[in-house]
Amino acid sequence: MKVTDYLVIGAGASGLAFADTVLRESDAEVVLVDRRSEVGGHWRDAYPFVRLHTPSAYYGVDSLPLGRNRLITSGRNVGFYEQANGAEVGAYFEAVRIQRLESSGRALFLGRREFLNHQAGIARVRNAATGRVDKIGVRRGVVDARYQEASIPATHTPSYAVDPEAAFAPIGMLPERVGDYREFMVIGGGKTAADACLWLLDAGTDPDRILWVRPREMWFTDRAGMQPLEQVASIMNGLADDAEAGAHARNLVDLCHRLEDAGRFMRLDTRVEPTMYRGTMLSRPELVALRRIGNVIRLGHVKAVSAGHLLLGGGVVAIPPHTLAVDCSARGLAASPPVPIFARGSIRLQQVRHNSPTFNAALLGFIEAHRDDVAEKNRLAPPNPYASTPRDMARMFARTWATERSWRHDPDILRWVAHSRLNLLRGLEERTGDVAATAASARFVANVAAAIVRLPQLA
Ligand SMILES: Cc1cc2nc3c(=O)[nH]c(=O)nc-3n(C[C@H](O)[C@H](O)[C@H](O)COP(=O)(O)OP(=O)(O)OC[C@H]3O[C@@H](n4cnc5c(N)ncnc54)[C@H](O)[C@@H]3O)c2cc1C
Repeated sequence: MKVTDYLVIGAGASGLAFADTVLRESDAEVVLVDRRSEVGGHWRDAYPFVRLHTPSAYYGVDSLPLGRNRLITSGRNVGFYEQANGAEVGAYFEAVRIQRLESSGRALFLGRREFLNHQAGIARVRNAATGRVDKIGVRRGVVDARYQEASIPATHTPSYAVDPEAAFAPIGMLPERVGDYREFMVIGGGKTAADACLWLLDAGTDPDRILWVRPREMWFTDRAGMQPLEQVASIMNGLADDAEAGAHARNLVDLCHRLEDAGRFMRLDTRVEPTMYRGTMLSRPELVALRRIGNVIRLGHVKAVSAGHLLLGGGVVAIPPHTLAVDCSARGLAASPPVPIFARGSIRLQQVRHNSPTFNAALLGFIEAHRDDVAEKNRLAPPNPYASTPRDMARMFARTWATERSWRHDPDILRWVAHSRLNLLRGLEERTGDVAATAASARFVANVAAAIVRLPQLA
């Protein structure tokens, strides 16, 4: 029987980032298992034109840079740090497997393996190729890196019925089917749907030939406020906006409007109050392009797509002939209920700092490597569920800041965070001569304590 220190379930970005840090920070051995045959998780099934919506500079695992921190020189994101496309992310994670994990001699990836269960230090894993169930002995812990597994259009089942006669495709099939249709009906109000619309516009589709079904409107974060390294003052300034709005907001709507007035938040239609927040980013030029799409259906959630009609919670809409319905409705990261991250013999990876999934997984690897006591580990890393509404967002911001304040007596954590390439604020401390960064830091500090108290009251 194979025996290891950690068995990581899921070799997506989270499992890899955890494994990379725990390998570097300890002498542990790690086995990663995944249903998929390759590492990289949902990126392996993403649509062909997917990209990171955050800069590559702070994405991936801690020990291996992704990309070269170049600035984008053309298009709607000009001047921002590069964002890897799906193929680049996949190739990067493959390099992580070879150069960082397996080259250590202490890590092994087993693809096409289904984790079944774990009891008394023995995990059972089914080999999809042979059907055989193997046992793996686990000395320190089973690491559940699929607790907040992402749901994506290529692999999810839509929550609505689809008539087999209807012209219907997940976003990933858009490039191959675009030539067969005159009109397009994009279903979903989030990042994937925005990507589908931008792709159609870039392919030369007249905006009037796009029908956008948006059950809920979303608050987007302006990408300009998420730029690291030389532009890290932009991130500090955005955080200062968040804290200042949080400290003074009268209610949740007021909170979001303050952030919109500060230029932090954006929405597609200023006449409609968004009820969704998922930390998704857009640039202003992307927003301008998307606003060219005027045919928007807001009649609640889709119930059924048939050949000539779309049935929604709030009514029925005729679908014009030669229209392709494009499913962009997958949920993304799961809003699983928060549970303690560390327990004896198991770790359930969850969000700690908001909107930083790979930073969090690596941070949890660091804590696991440097602390023994379960209660102490959980004190350092309380779970912070993903947000899907402004209410969740208020609670989530406060939880992040309260947690980060609690690290002030833990210099090793502070040092790791300050130097991690996954920390979006990396390098801020050295920019003492940067007037904008210093002013933003001061504004954040002036407001954060009040925001930590105020935001949960709003929520
Ligand atoms: C389109 C898109 C764009 C995104 N862009 C960004 C971005 O720019 N920046 C950012 O920070 N985040 C982004 N995200 C969020 C992104 O989901 C995370 O960054 C990260 O990729 C999530 O990785 P994960 O490992 O948590 O989940 P997953 O990638 O879903 O991996 C979980 C793995 O667990 C495996 N698994 C599940 N159950 C079992 C089992 N029983 N046995 C074996 N294996 C199992 C699955 O096969 C899967 O490979 C984006 C998400 C989407 C959908």
